[in-house]
Amino acid sequence: MKQSIKAVYEMTQQKRVLILGGTGDAVELAGKIAEIPEVEVINSLAGRTQQPIVPSENTRIGGFGGIAGLTAYLREQQIDWLIDATHPFAAQISLNAAAAATAVNIPHLMLIRSAWNPVAGDDWIEVESNAAAAAVLPGLAQRIFLTIGRQELAAFAHLKIWFLMRMIDPPLPDTTVPPGKLLLARGPFSLENERSLLQQYEIGAIVSKNSGGTATYAKIIAARELGIPVVMVQRPPLPPGEKVADVETALSWLRDRISK
Ligand code: NAP
Repeated sequence: MKQSIKAVYEMTQQKRVLILGGTGDAVELAGKIAEIPEVEVINSLAGRTQQPIVPSENTRIGGFGGIAGLTAYLREQQIDWLIDATHPFAAQISLNAAAAATAVNIPHLMLIRSAWNPVAGDDWIEVESNAAAAAVLPGLAQRIFLTIGRQELAAFAHLKIWFLMRMIDPPLPDTTVPPGKLLLARGPFSLENERSLLQQYEIGAIVSKNSGGTATYAKIIAARELGIPVVMVQRPPLPPGEKVADVETALSWLRDRISK
């Protein structure tokens, strides 16, 4: 009798999924999971942007304190599943997530959109890091569209080159900013917008992270049209583990686990 009461109790309990966010995919996934009655979603943001797009009320903001902090959080909050939907360049939190999920022995999924691949007409110089991108710029162009965000601007600050630097929030006060102009804007960006920016500022080359997705891809199309080279920073490696490339497949992964 005791067991069957426990079983009924467990059936009525919602399971908990923690989504590590900071991407449009994370927001979309959170919205869809919120419609599944058996599951409670907790969203987590690092707190980098001043006005983040917050998926739902159930959002916590700020770091966990490394692997140990995230492991403790997963235990304390009794998280059943962990979905890492962070940006492909947010390498540290993905490593931490994989390690913490292993430590508490819960299923863990990485939702990571596919990288862009060059197509006919693209002129890409693929590099491993921002430092490597900075190294190829002298001699390539004198006016560069720098679209790597605000955190790693200092890697370009030593160059005698003019930069158009686009980011969501201004650089933090202690950042060494390269010479040029700051443009504060949040995607998605249209092809028309990107084409006219490149022309208006007489841009000779673009530096971009290989973020994938559609929101910031128009600049790559505009560069192709205008014959402008793109210095493409490759993604950092991901930890081993289950990976999917889109929200619907992530949702199926979760539904499979709910039904088990
Ligand atoms: P990161 O280098 O991988 O992470 C640095 C630290 O930030 C982590 O160790 C963790 O702190 C904290 N953190 C990161 N994501 C978190 C999350 N979703 N919830 C709670 N804490 C988080 O990350 P990053 O490159 O600085 O990116 C920070 C956030 O911005 C990520 O959530 C990412 O999705 C988003 N983002 C990044 C980029 C990019 O190009 N890097 C672009 C767009 C959006 P603790 O160790 O203290 O837990």
